[in-house]
Amino acid sequence: MKRLQEVHEGVYLVGSPELTAPEDCCVYLINLGDLVMIDAGAGRSLSSILGNVALLGFNPKHISAVLATHCHIDHIGGIPELRERTGCQVIAHELDAGVIEAGDPVKTAADWYNLNFPPTPIDYKLSEVREVLKFEKGELLCLHTPGHTPGSISVILDYDGKRVLFGQDIHGPFSDTFGSNLAAWKKSMEILLGLHADILCEGHFGVYRPEAEVERYIQHYLKMYGKNKK
Ligand SMILES: [Zn+2]
Ligand SMILES: [Zn+2]
Repeated sequence: MKRLQEVHEGVYLVGSPELTAPEDCCVYLINLGDLVMIDAGAGRSLSSILGNVALLGFNPKHISAVLATHCHIDHIGGIPELRERTGCQVIAHELDAGVIEAGDPVKTAADWYNLNFPPTPIDYKLSEVREVLKFEKGELLCLHTPGHTPGSISVILDYDGKRVLFGQDIHGPFSDTFGSNLAAWKKSMEILLGLHADILCEGHFGVYRPEAEVERYIQHYLKMYGKNKK
């Protein structure tokens, strides 16, 4: 069994294709006094994810918020059950919130994964380019980084002298079905490069560090998609 990973002090990987279910994104837990989850996997494995939270010594019932980085099922599928079991606040950008609230099977890609996603309320909708969310012992900066989807966000945690960037699906893919926009994406990537993050917690490939590796990761995709004009 793969071991649970403490990515950085107070930041843990609790779900991933290797840890929980092949269709899951990487799911991170942040201990800010309040427990905050970044994404929730595709749904089938929510109990395993919460089991991992418990294995780390936390009470899953103390998860107070889940941030949906964007509206795709591999990231949001576990949210309805998570909300039901913990009463946590669901937070997403307003430009992806409608898809989640409608349970849109195409724009969530649920039909592609052959999964069901029920209409799910968003308790707090981000609407600014930059928004700070305050928790008991710290804060998270949410940046609107459209490209993969219109309401994609990236989340930044500054803790213990390090900057941690949660950048899920910043590598794409891009499709008209998702409402992707490559021009917007390139601008988003420039913003992320300007953050000089020390650690990238990515959505499918895991964790990158130090800063030079984070930059290499983003530049690699900028080069790959740089030729496309769209
Ligand atoms: Zn996605
Ligand atoms: Zn994804």
